[in-house]
Amino acid sequence: MSTRTSRLVIVARLGLVGFIGGFLLFYFTGILGVNWGFIPCVLGGIAGPLGLLLFSWTGVRLIGAVCYGHDPAYRKYIAKGGDPYFDGLPPPFNTDSWTQRIGGLREPVTDFIPPAHWRFQCPRCGARVEHGNDTCWNCGHGNDLSQCHGCGTIVREPSFGAFETTGVICPNCNSVIRN
Ligand SMILES: [Zn+2]
Ligand SMILES: [Zn+2]
Repeated sequence: MSTRTSRLVIVARLGLVGFIGGFLLFYFTGILGVNWGFIPCVLGGIAGPLGLLLFSWTGVRLIGAVCYGHDPAYRKYIAKGGDPYFDGLPPPFNTDSWTQRIGGLREPVTDFIPPAHWRFQCPRCGARVEHGNDTCWNCGHGNDLSQCHGCGTIVREPSFGAFETTGVICPNCNSVIRN
């Protein structure tokens, strides 16, 4: 299980593109008979995209904080390492899947490929699941929870397998939950 592509890696990729851009600038201005010098061209090439990155990143985070700063979902996303700017960058700068960008976890490699409309991510293994509170088909996360038939409370299994054997008493309405 690993998380999003490091922002340093993304910045380095952007810097590399800037370097190539600066190199081409040096090359083509040379053809035109202009000599700005190799170092200024390359440094300018790198500084351009990185300056733009810093500027637009600051803007996106400011707008995010102003417009969504009170939204618990947005705060949770930021707290878990999400960044609306970096998570929105296209390949080749950011090569993460959309699930990984939003959920923060890399999807496990398995034989089963979840349908495209499964948008939630298992918080333990990163597999895509259909509903936010699903039992994970990959690692089983969530199968220690069951909904009380009587009152609808979500109850956690006190010991492994208790739903299958003795059943579990609902703390809310005292009915026995047994799967
Ligand atoms: Zn899982
Ligand atoms: Zn109940």
